[in-house]
Amino acid sequence: MPLTSVIAPRIRPVGAGEVRRLLPYRERRSVGPFVFLDRIGPDPLPAGSGIDVAAHPHIGLATLTLLLEGALVHRDSTGAEQRIDPGAVNWMHAGRGVAHSERSPDDERAADTSIAGAQAWVALPAAHEDDDPFFEHHAADALPVVDVGGVTVRLLVGEGWGETSPVTTVSPMVYALAEVPPTPAGGSTALTLPDAPEIGLVPLDAPLDVDGTEVPVDHVAVLDGPGSATSPGPNRVLVLGGEPLGPRRMWWNLVATTQERIDAASRRWRDDDFDPVPGETERIPLPE
Ligand code: MN
Repeated sequence: MPLTSVIAPRIRPVGAGEVRRLLPYRERRSVGPFVFLDRIGPDPLPAGSGIDVAAHPHIGLATLTLLLEGALVHRDSTGAEQRIDPGAVNWMHAGRGVAHSERSPDDERAADTSIAGAQAWVALPAAHEDDDPFFEHHAADALPVVDVGGVTVRLLVGEGWGETSPVTTVSPMVYALAEVPPTPAGGSTALTLPDAPEIGLVPLDAPLDVDGTEVPVDHVAVLDGPGSATSPGPNRVLVLGGEPLGPRRMWWNLVATTQERIDAASRRWRDDDFDPVPGETERIPLPE
């Protein structure tokens, strides 16, 4: 039975709002290299309001911001400043350390808008923990789109369904948004899964049937091996996974193979010893 667990979302406060945390989970710390996954929104952002996540550090991971609605401006200590719109990929490879902020752009603050998406963290292999940080942006129309038996699969990162994403990765993984077309009442469509040792499936609009088990919206179905998934449509499903990298320490925004690396990065942030984020004036202090 390849379906090994179904993870329910936990509500977590973030800034002025809240998110649904899907990973890590105490009984399932990771799926492939994915060690963190938050579902965001959809949340209304009335005129005059916006998202403001001030500068904070990361090590030992790559972050991926995917928006389904709304927009954000990313700034980081490599000097990158990049607006992200729905369907695009912002990929930040932290390596030995990077600081960044994410804020609503001015045009989004001026109007009644909304925001929805997912924030994922992928652990880096031990050999890449001291990499120089880098940032990549890939527009939605620069990413592979595959028709898989009537399901439109947008491949965001890694390899799957015979395609390769242009995002620079350093370990085998897959991350995709699958769009199941409308089906007649009572009907469903099969979602062909990519070939990976660990797979997580997160239905966004309607329950998904995985190996005969109903997986509710915003839950993670974890498969350790090949499995089957079918869904009524319309539905969108996040597909994530790949080869696991072994256990990681995780504290605040820091991911590492050892506690010593976490402690060293904590001291560096406390001592304001990360490179500055150009254009950013606020920083989130190290938690007590
Ligand atoms: Mn971050």
